[in-house]
Amino acid sequence: MSKPKINVEACKGCELCVAACPKKVLRLAKDTLNSKGYHPCELFDPDGCISCAMCATMCPDVAITLE
Ligand code: SF4
Ligand code: SF4
Repeated sequence: MSKPKINVEACKGCELCVAACPKKVLRLAKDTLNSKGYHPCELFDPDGCISCAMCATMCPDVAITLE
């Protein structure tokens, strides 16, 4: 599996994925706003990600996909 791809425009910054990630490699991008005014989540340490897909499973807005 690939690393998660985040659809920044679909994200509402709820942080469910941040809480679900067992490797703690997701965070909200505090310096970025999407067009709805939310700080979108970002994968800040791709090397630490184990492609477990927990983040994609947790996201209520299907903003994260893994291939
Ligand atoms: S795939 Fe797993 S390890 Fe990678 S960011 Fe998502 S929850 Fe974290
Ligand atoms: S769970 Fe989805 S909507 Fe919530 S912060 Fe993560 S990517 Fe954004």
